[in-house]
This record gives sequence, structure tokens and C-alpha cells, in this order.
Amino acid sequence: MNLRNGTTDSDNMTPQSQRVLECQNVSRDFKVGKKLFNKALDLKAVQNVSMNVNRGEVLAVVGESGCGKTTLTKMMLGLLPVTSGEILFEEEPISGIDIRSIAKKVQPVFQDPYSSLNPRKTLEAIISLPMKVHGIGTAEERRGRVLEIMRLVELPPRFLHSYPNQLSGGQRQRVAIARALIINPSILICDEPTSALDVSVQAHILNLLIDLRQELNLTYVLVSHDLAVVELLADKVAVMYLGRLIEYGPGQQIFNSPRHPYTKLLLESVLTPEPGKGLPEIALGKEFPNPLNPPSGCAFHPRCTEATEQCKITRPVLTVENGQSVECHLFSD
Ligand code: SF4
Repeated sequence: MNLRNGTTDSDNMTPQSQRVLECQNVSRDFKVGKKLFNKALDLKAVQNVSMNVNRGEVLAVVGESGCGKTTLTKMMLGLLPVTSGEILFEEEPISGIDIRSIAKKVQPVFQDPYSSLNPRKTLEAIISLPMKVHGIGTAEERRGRVLEIMRLVELPPRFLHSYPNQLSGGQRQRVAIARALIINPSILICDEPTSALDVSVQAHILNLLIDLRQELNLTYVLVSHDLAVVELLADKVAVMYLGRLIEYGPGQQIFNSPRHPYTKLLLESVLTPEPGKGLPEIALGKEFPNPLNPPSGCAFHPRCTEATEQCKITRPVLTVENGQSVECHLFSD
């Protein structure tokens, strides 16, 4: 892939007033498996997660399927309430903001452009829908804005009356990005934005996201299995395992000197030449544990090559050094 470098020089020096989104000790539980006479089980999908993203930054959230990424992004989009903790959007708790107002500022770009676009609507109708929903502009003004945003995402104006099935996968993802951008959101939540696309078009979409970020000073939360993409784009990286944030900090620092044994294994998986195939099992050994019955102590201990007896009994606490936090006994005092 021929890719531009998408990271910026932004770092922890960004003032607090530039903070766009912040999770403060966020948890989300689900009751599952309740049958007539059975007690429901508690699934702790996200546990005490704290992270933030400043204006113009890219925060990448990585981890295997089932680590809590999707639940976390649904809470960021206001689609799912938190069980405890708080999510702040521009320093205001989103629990106090109505869902329409959140949708004006926080827009999703989903993994699969094939299923996220209505096949019976033209591109004009699809891209202008958020303006219509929020009562923005006349029909003429909306068409003008659609054409403007199509130019921005490099879709030719002749596609205005086309339908999604007349477009390639890459073009459809451009439509999804155009729809997300049309009402000038502050932040895009991109959930595996390239993994459903052919390798040949992934680089085009990534370069588009990089260009749009620079042009519009956009902020991204990027959920991705593809650590090569994360390394390219992310200013900050949050590594999740079984609902917990186990390593978090500046992207370059985490890629250059990962501390948590799980992060180290994930980064080794970058070397596997199978984009979009998810994380390989080889280095991680045993299967991902059952989230309904998580291991005692450090939840990673059954798969960790550095585990000690203490790891089986006591859960480590998050410790911070040089802006890089890690939840592992190897780094506790
Ligand atoms: Fe491995 Fe122990 Fe660190 Fe968990 S706490 S990652 S088991 S060394």
C-alpha cells in the first residue's frame, strides 16, 4: 500500500480546552442468558476505562473481538448508556445531551459500506439525509452541500443520482464518509473503515481519511484490527483486553516500546501479511477466554508467557510512566 504518514505532532501538550471526547472510568455491564428459572449472568463488557482525544488527534482502540471496543464506541456515539462513569463531549457529560445533538457532533463510519447504505436511495438522498434529519437548509442548499462534500471525498458529480449498487466498494465507503461529514461533525468514530475493502482500495480510503483530517482539522476515534493502519494514523493508542484498558499512551511510544506482554504480542502480529484477517492466534496461544467467566487475577494470565503466581490471584493496577499507562504486575511498584 502506498500511504501517506497520518500522525501529527500533537501530544499531551494539547490544552484541556481542546479535549473533544473523554471517557472517565466508564463501565458497561449486560445481563445475559436469563431463562425462566435461571439467574442472568453479568457480562462486564467494559470496565473502568478512561481515555481521551483532543481536537485534530486520532485515538486508536485496538484489541481482539470481544475486548469491548464495539460497546465502548456505541457509548461514545450515545447509542448505549454507561452503567457507571461518565463520557464527556467537549467537557459536557453526554448523558445530559439529547441523542440528536450528539449525532450532529459525533458521526460513525462503519466497517461495511455494502450494508450501511440504503440500496433504494440515490447518493444525493443518502448523503443529504443527516441535513434533512436535522432540518438544515432548503432542498437546493442541501444539493449544493452534497456536491461540495462529494468533491471533498473525490466522488464525481455525475454520481449524484446513482445508487449504491452502481458503485465499487471504495466508492461506497467514500459515500459513507461524505454522509458522516455533511453536517460538519467534530469527531468521526471509524469502526474498521477499510477492513471490508479490497487491499487495492484500502490505501486510497486511508489517504482520504488522512487528507480530510488535515483539511478539516477532524478528530477520529479509530477502531481497527489492522495495526499497520493504527501505526500510520494514531496519535494515541488504547489497548483493550476483556473489557479493560491494559495499555494506553502516545502511539509512537507504544509502537516503539510496548510494555504490556499482550501489546507486545499484538505488535508482533503486524508482521503477518494478512490485512483485514484479524489478529493471529499463533503467538497468543490459548483461545480468548469466556467474558462471562473471566480468569482470576490478571485476566491475561492464562495466555501470558511472563505470568507468575501473583498474576493468578491479584489483579494488577494501572500505573503511569512518561504518559504511558500499563496494567501489569511487571510494572507495579
Ligand atoms: Fe502477564 Fe502477570 Fe503482567 Fe498479567 S500481570 S500481563 S499475567 S505478567
